[in-house]
Order: sequence, then structure tokens, then C-alpha cells
Amino acid sequence: MLLFLSMKYIDAHCHLQFDAYDEDRDEIIEQMKREDIHGIVVGVDLESSKKAIELAKKHEHLYATVGMHPCYTDKGKFIDEYKALAEDTNVVAIGECGLDYFRSEKTPIQTEVFRQQVQIAVDLDKALMIHSRPSEDTVDAYKDVIEILSEYKEKYGDTLRGNIHFFVGGDEERNTFNKLGFTVSVTGVITFTDDYNNMVVGAKHDMLLGETDSPYVTPVPHRGERNSALNVVHVYKKIATLWGVTEEQARESLNTNTKRIFNL
Ligand SMILES: [Zn+2]
Repeated sequence: MLLFLSMKYIDAHCHLQFDAYDEDRDEIIEQMKREDIHGIVVGVDLESSKKAIELAKKHEHLYATVGMHPCYTDKGKFIDEYKALAEDTNVVAIGECGLDYFRSEKTPIQTEVFRQQVQIAVDLDKALMIHSRPSEDTVDAYKDVIEILSEYKEKYGDTLRGNIHFFVGGDEERNTFNKLGFTVSVTGVITFTDDYNNMVVGAKHDMLLGETDSPYVTPVPHRGERNSALNVVHVYKKIATLWGVTEEQARESLNTNTKRIFNL
């Protein structure tokens, strides 16, 4: 573990390998380097996982994850290929994987494919990057993810760890995830709605991460434009404001947390 790896910011979850960046990917990556912004490039299927690894191999400030998004679990039969890819040293986590009852339905295959990826993570001693989205006005997907993770926690202890990305749950779910060894991360959404202010304010400073989930959910002041990892700066700023600390103090916490969880 490179304990002395320094960085100004780290976007804990972005999709720089997506087609949205085909025109100017290299420029964005160069600008990230100039501004000392690191990024975890997250795979959602086999192809995007391979591309994430390619980017991480080429650039020291990028890291990759390998995983099958819960909305694409019809591709579940390739699970062994994911495991082989995940062994690459540039891969810092398995995912994004999890349960999505908003865009998809609860099905046995979705649950099975999530379990398979949790198993890969503990087998390879890597973190999990979890996507969990409940159906409207419920916390159903969080409940099911917590149940599955609790089961693995009992068996594998601290080897099981990771981050709940794009967290939209409440204090209760956040605290339970923390107890299971999982941080939660917030996106640019916190810059244009107050809905998550209390959750961020109440979060332990050593258990929260900042992310963009770019190209999605562009933060203020860039609403209406395509999002990119460069905008993680605005997510960090908002967290600092909500915490009532300086930007530098917020960076110190958020960067330390991300490095610890993903072993950067
Ligand atoms: Zn994502």
C-alpha cells in the first residue's frame, strides 16, 4: 500500500471510458493530471471493465474496477471472465455491482450475479463498488444488500469492504453500512438538492467519499453540460460547506478514506 500517495482530489466513481468521452478523453485525463485529480474508472459490463483497465494501465492517476451492473445481469454467464480480469493489479474493486429495483426488477439472476461478485471480491481480497437503488419511496434494495453483505461479513470479516456509491439512503442505512465496513459516497446531486444535507452532515468524516458518477448528474455550476471527473471539485466543496470545515480539511478526510477503502 502506497501510504504516501498524494493527490488533491479523487473522484471515487466515474466512467471516463464511456463513449461520451470519445472526442476529448485524452484532454480530460491530461487536465485531471494537471489539477492533480485522480479517478476510479468504473466498469458496468465486460467491455467497459476492459476499457477501464486499459486506462488505468496507461495513467498513474487512474484506477479501474471490474463489474457487472445490476441492470445488465443478463450477461451473467460470463462471470468467470470478470474474475480473470479482476486479478489485474490495476483493478482496485469489483463492481459496480449490486441490486437495482428502480430501473430493473428484483429477480433471482440479479441477486445471484451480485453474490457471485461479492464472492470474487473476498476471494481476491479487493473492495466492492456497490450500486444499490431502491424502488420509489422505499429502501428495499438497501435492505437486501445489507442482508447479503451481513452474511458475507460473518464468514469473511474485514476482508469484506467497499463503498456504497451514489448513496441516497438515510442515517439508518448509512450507519449499518459503516458497521459492515462500507463507506458511502455522494455525487453532484448534493449541489442542487438539499435532500441529502442531513445525511452528509451526520456522516462520520472517516466514512464518506466524494464522486461524480460522470457523465451523469452534473453538479452546480455546470448543470446542463456533460459531467466529468474534473467536477469532483464541486462535490468536495459542498461537503466541506455542509461539514463546516475548510476545503483542505475536507480533502484530507475524503482522500484518506478513498485511499484506505480501495488500498490505493
Ligand atoms: Zn456508475
